[in-house]
Amino acid sequence: MIDVVEALRRVEKAAVGSQPRRVRIENAVGMQLREDVISDTDSPPWHRSMMDGFAVLSSDFALAEDDKQVVTLDVVAEIGAGETTAIILKRGQCIRIMTGAPMPTGADAVIPIERVVPGSSDGLTGEHVSLHDSHFRFGQHVSKKASFFHKGQTVIHSGVELEPVHIGLAAEVGVSHVTVNAPPRVSIITTGNELISDCKIPGKGQIRNTNEPMLAAAVVRCGAEPIPMGIAKDHAESLRALMAQGLAADLLLLSGGVSAGDYDLVPRMLEKMGVECIFHKVCMKPGKPIWFGVFQRPEASPTLVFGLPGNPVSALVCFELFVRPALGLITGQSLEMQRGSHLTARLVGSVKGSGDRPVYHPCHLELAEGGFLAEALPWGGSADLLGLSRANGLLVLPKNCGDYHKGDSVEVVPLVSRFRYESERC
Ligand code: AMP
Ligand code: MG
Repeated sequence: MIDVVEALRRVEKAAVGSQPRRVRIENAVGMQLREDVISDTDSPPWHRSMMDGFAVLSSDFALAEDDKQVVTLDVVAEIGAGETTAIILKRGQCIRIMTGAPMPTGADAVIPIERVVPGSSDGLTGEHVSLHDSHFRFGQHVSKKASFFHKGQTVIHSGVELEPVHIGLAAEVGVSHVTVNAPPRVSIITTGNELISDCKIPGKGQIRNTNEPMLAAAVVRCGAEPIPMGIAKDHAESLRALMAQGLAADLLLLSGGVSAGDYDLVPRMLEKMGVECIFHKVCMKPGKPIWFGVFQRPEASPTLVFGLPGNPVSALVCFELFVRPALGLITGQSLEMQRGSHLTARLVGSVKGSGDRPVYHPCHLELAEGGFLAEALPWGGSADLLGLSRANGLLVLPKNCGDYHKGDSVEVVPLVSRFRYESERC
């Protein structure tokens, strides 16, 4: 049986950095853009009215500007947003216009509707309207064509981490899909005839599916995208159907069915589906039955496949030791770059030595003056999630080590998100 170091080395060898993906813009928020976004339009696309009012010739208001006079014009048409007109505006004329409408040819300013002289007409088409604008400026209330950017201009540069504003900008310039560094997609299949959904009341012999939401949450904590696929029965057809879909993801996580029992069909089924076994069983406690393999996807990087033991603590410990690093490798972080690698601490209290496998024992880790302190916590084994929930680290007891005593130097794997949270609270 291989040890944890060798298992991790094989995971590292099998993991390939993921390729950029093309996604719809609203799904790309938070992701890093891998191409320039180039506009297919001017912005604004035409001279645009910024007010409801009257499109006019500034020259009609040149005198009015000095004298603050009332100007009376013929209203020759009306344009709403989304409409255009072929009329070319002449001196003495105006067009009733709405915010967002294109300015008619000849017009170069807008007099807001509020500047209609009280008692004058309503300014409908065919009427005369009297306007008085004491603050008139040449070209006022018109947003000029291409004053923001022009057709062919790069409006978002490759490398930018996309925010909602960039998504809006991409939509404005006609880009509905973008190429991004997307988080890896992780399918999750939980297996076991005894499992029911966590929102149901278990019958005799049944238990709630703890692992699916727990592993999905762990995947989210790694910045990846979980795809929970539901429960497969301990039955070839049920497994095959879900595995066939799950293998399309960057990583497939299964829980349960990897030990040596009659109903433990997962390794056999995976190999039948074309997944190459890289290792089965690792010398560790909990987590010994873990299975790992690689599936060659057509025209994509290989899918990494982990069969985790069904016991929830075993599943989560294996996630921390192997799946978290694998996700990091897929997103381009070497093992050295990844946080949460082992550290050394001084033991508080004492702890019993291990047997023929290294033990990963839940512990409380804290940073004190002079370094880290670790204390082994009461723990009932591979199904005791409550025991693990009190821990922020795993104390590593090497195989066949003797008992440890207060002050001894011990190795600890910090549980990354929990330990970070604790240190932020301090
Ligand atoms: P297995 O690895 O399938 O032999 O399962 C080992 C133990 O874990 C059994 O007691 C299962 O009932 C339990 N188990 C398996 N899958 C889950 C799960 N998704 N949620 C909670 N417990 C599970
Ligand atoms: Mg099972």
